[in-house]
Amino acid sequence: MRAMVLPGPRARLRMDERADPIPGDGQIRVKVSACGVCRTDLHVVDGELPDIRYPIVPGHEIVGRIDLIGPVVTTHRLGDRVGIPWLGYTCGTCRFCREGMENLCDHPLFTGCTRDGGYATHAIADARYAFPLGEDGDDVAIAPLLCAGLIGWRSLVMAGHAKRLGIYGFGAAGHIVAQVAVWQGRSVYGFTRRGDIAAQDFARKLGAVWAGASDELPDAPLDAAVIYAPAGELVPAALRAVRKGGRVVCAGIHMSDIPSFPYNLLWEERQLLSVANLTRQDGLDFLKIAPQAGVRTETTVFALNEANEVLDRLRGGQILGAAVLRP
Ligand SMILES: [Zn+2]
Ligand SMILES: [Zn+2]
Repeated sequence: MRAMVLPGPRARLRMDERADPIPGDGQIRVKVSACGVCRTDLHVVDGELPDIRYPIVPGHEIVGRIDLIGPVVTTHRLGDRVGIPWLGYTCGTCRFCREGMENLCDHPLFTGCTRDGGYATHAIADARYAFPLGEDGDDVAIAPLLCAGLIGWRSLVMAGHAKRLGIYGFGAAGHIVAQVAVWQGRSVYGFTRRGDIAAQDFARKLGAVWAGASDELPDAPLDAAVIYAPAGELVPAALRAVRKGGRVVCAGIHMSDIPSFPYNLLWEERQLLSVANLTRQDGLDFLKIAPQAGVRTETTVFALNEANEVLDRLRGGQILGAAVLRP
């Protein structure tokens, strides 16, 4: 197999030839057809997450077909198309797993971070965390759903029944969640970097009733806001934009420091919370809802050996929608 491998923090990925991996008990091997590039991959490259296992093959939005099945797998068959998400394994025994919060498991494995991911021709996954995808839809179009979509969905649920919803950062997750929110009958307000006209036009095209810079205030207060961009200064900006009792959800895995802000931005029962990882139920729910909502992902396809250039472009805000690697 071939894989783009990250040897250590803040290094460039390099193409490796390796022996094809053999799935162990409960595992499957997938021939990767498409792997989305997520902003989290930048945090892996930058060494900004705890417990990253180097050298690591990044990538946790994997679509492919099972080409080898390990012992004691009864849920999947050879040739099945599956999606492999960020959540790669949970212990099943810690208090969080037992209480239905496996996204907070004490002993998890994360695809493309603490176990090898999908910037490769083949990937190993725990069968219990591989979602059956059926045959509808294109592999490239589905790939971004597996993290931007799933964690985007979890953050939208966390935003509650907000009618007027702000989305800060209109990248891979923002553009998917906006479509679901519009389908649910919400009014979407898209916030982008100042002067990013292309992203603001993109937001309007996807049904946003308003689009502007993240330091602007909408014409009326929001009921809730979800922040996808990893910029801490968006927290006070979003708190300023929500009404009394409104909620601000931080959906990213990493964020720059939040600047201090006056208590009156939080006062009047505004809530600030974060979303971490996903549960398998989030995945099952969202993969059912996405086709009902008619979600269409905007993708740009790159070859596997272009992974470094793709990450550079993502960092520079030069990817509209989502980038997908095609091994
Ligand atoms: Zn656990
Ligand atoms: Zn991700």
